[in-house]
Amino acid sequence: MGMELLEERIRKDGHVRGHDVLKVDSFLNHQIDVAFLEELGKEFGRRFAGCGVTKILTIEASGIGIACMTAQIFRVPVVFAKKNKTKNIAGDVYTSPVHSFTHGKTYDIIVSKEFLKAEDKVLLIDDFLANGKALEGLCKLVDDAGATLCGAGIVIEKGFQQGGDRLREKGIRIESLARIAAMSQEEGISFF
Ligand code: 5GP
Repeated sequence: MGMELLEERIRKDGHVRGHDVLKVDSFLNHQIDVAFLEELGKEFGRRFAGCGVTKILTIEASGIGIACMTAQIFRVPVVFAKKNKTKNIAGDVYTSPVHSFTHGKTYDIIVSKEFLKAEDKVLLIDDFLANGKALEGLCKLVDDAGATLCGAGIVIEKGFQQGGDRLREKGIRIESLARIAAMSQEEGISFF
């Protein structure tokens, strides 16, 4: 599947909220079009082939679907970082603070040390890239585990926000299947 089909789908089904939030609830964030996401997973499979990926890492909840589709291709497990809702952090975990773009507050994400090891080669997968805080938090978990980072696969990068540029400057490989150049309720959505 060519990624212009993803752009078409975003144009057709996406709803711009305010000036910087895109809702794609009909196929990615609420209802999930599994066959469609399967094709996106295959594309990540092509792009990160040969990296020796041993684990997919994402954040609950909206990244899990696309992470699973990608994991099917690599035949590796998915680990999703949990958003810690309580103050006390239990046991043997890696943890990192993340400022949520959609909720405007900071929470800790945690992954059990059992599921992230120094010998892992980790591919990060998420639905959106905005200011990059979610990916930065995941990168820290990978670092803390002493694991190797293969890069990050993102379904929709909002290229007018700063996360993608900043992470690429740090030398992190980011593969976004759709990169939005600009969007508004009046003008619609344009891609790079
Ligand atoms: P960042 O941490 O890069 O600022 O934001 C990425 C995270 O926020 C993603 O995990 C995603 O769930 C959420 N997010 C950011 N922007 C959007 C958006 O425009 N639409 C939706 N549905 N989620 C977003």
